[in-house]
Amino acid sequence: MKIYNTKNVSEYDVIVLGGGASGLFLGASLNLNGKAGLIIEASPILGKKILASGGGRCNFTHAGSIKDFIHCYHSLSSKAESFVRSPLYKFNNLKTRNFFESIGVLSYSQDDGRIFPSSNKSISVRNALIKKCELNSWTFSLNTRIVKIENNKNNNYSWLLKSDDGGYFATKNLVISAGSPAWKYDDYSNQIFDDLKNLGVKIVNPLPALTPINIKSFNLKSLSGISFENASLSLINSDTKKSIYKNSGDILITETGFSGPLALNSSWFINKLKSEYFLKQECKDFELIIELTEDSFLHEFDFHGVNLSLSNAIKFYSSLPERYIRFICGDFSDQKASSVPLKKIHTIINNMYKASYSSSLINNSSFENAMSALGGVSLEEINNKTFQCKSLKGLYVIGEALDISGDSGGYNFQFMWSSAMSASLCLAQDFARILIRD
Ligand SMILES: Cc1cc2nc3c(=O)[nH]c(=O)nc-3n(C[C@H](O)[C@H](O)[C@H](O)COP(=O)(O)OP(=O)(O)OC[C@H]3O[C@@H](n4cnc5c(N)ncnc54)[C@H](O)[C@@H]3O)c2cc1C
Repeated sequence: MKIYNTKNVSEYDVIVLGGGASGLFLGASLNLNGKAGLIIEASPILGKKILASGGGRCNFTHAGSIKDFIHCYHSLSSKAESFVRSPLYKFNNLKTRNFFESIGVLSYSQDDGRIFPSSNKSISVRNALIKKCELNSWTFSLNTRIVKIENNKNNNYSWLLKSDDGGYFATKNLVISAGSPAWKYDDYSNQIFDDLKNLGVKIVNPLPALTPINIKSFNLKSLSGISFENASLSLINSDTKKSIYKNSGDILITETGFSGPLALNSSWFINKLKSEYFLKQECKDFELIIELTEDSFLHEFDFHGVNLSLSNAIKFYSSLPERYIRFICGDFSDQKASSVPLKKIHTIINNMYKASYSSSLINNSSFENAMSALGGVSLEEINNKTFQCKSLKGLYVIGEALDISGDSGGYNFQFMWSSAMSASLCLAQDFARILIRD
């Protein structure tokens, strides 16, 4: 048993480790009613990622049926769908909007279903959460980085945390909301994963998710800024020629490759295939194919009867942007369509609707520009009704510290709120039980 000098230890009924989205939401949804609760945050700023989210506007959930949310989550350790069902149904997107409204954050839905605060400012979401935490009697310890977590089962305050300034915090209930290494500039969560691993909790090596797809010597660089609606992205195993992944959505050409919802949402799978950790188990090499919605009759069109340049003729019958058409037509762009061999025209049209890149051309993604991460605490370790660790009493894990990542569109925040609410309800019940027993 570890002995510590109680004079240097501050004791709490509950400590939330990480003052980001999920930690703040737990505080905002749990009135302490006389219990002592502390939110510990390594940086001087609470809710940094909330502030940066949605281009500063915070896309905090998505519209539509919660049934459709279930398929928007991914995990490396387990079936994400069965894990997220309970928390999402318990605290769905409608309840989320109502909750935020109750703390003064009105919201609106965009045509694409993304929901933002009416202020269009993420700071309004962050500040409302902090204010509600304070109303619920939580205290904060900022600039406090936890460097060690110990579990002393024989002590009433069974969780002991050591901070980087040598201080100690003891608590009966510890909620890990320390996030992931995504968007890495001052990441501390890896430290927490190491400590949890030492306590016997299974950790899956984190991988970047919601990253752009960067291509070496990108051929479409000069078309940066052009986007396409409803494109499709597939991955083909180069050995078996079988399709191993397919997704669709809007895509954006950047200076270094592809971004936009389709690229971001597919990146976790590509990052998994490219990662050393997975030893390329699923396939050694693959091909990335991006296809645009075809203007179907273009293939059948008789260009020889047209008295226009090739690019103008294609433009006439295609919904694609002119800059893009001219680029793909290349040297043939200003040539009379009737003078270009039909075989060449068909090759150009094929290239216009379909681009492919071998896996060796795809750069490995880093956490630096990832908006989320897969990996972290394995889902097998966690009860998805309470978010308690199955093997360690009084330990909860919520948010992105778990091996789960959602698609772009507000799905990540929704999981932050839903997982925090499940843990919060469990803690509230626990506190009420203790009150009755005492
Ligand atoms: C640029 C950007 C834009 C995004 N936009 C959206 C969006 O619009 N919609 C959406 O749904 N999702 C969005 N996301 C994803 C979303 O922000 C995250 O999923 C979410 O913030 C994760 O919440 P969390 O509480 O699990 O972790 P975080 O918000 O990362 O919070 C974890 C906190 O724990 C602290 N911490 C970690 N280790 C320690 C330690 N050892 N000691 C003390 N403190 C520690 C960290 O400093 C951090 O503040 C975006 C992400 C990024 C990076």
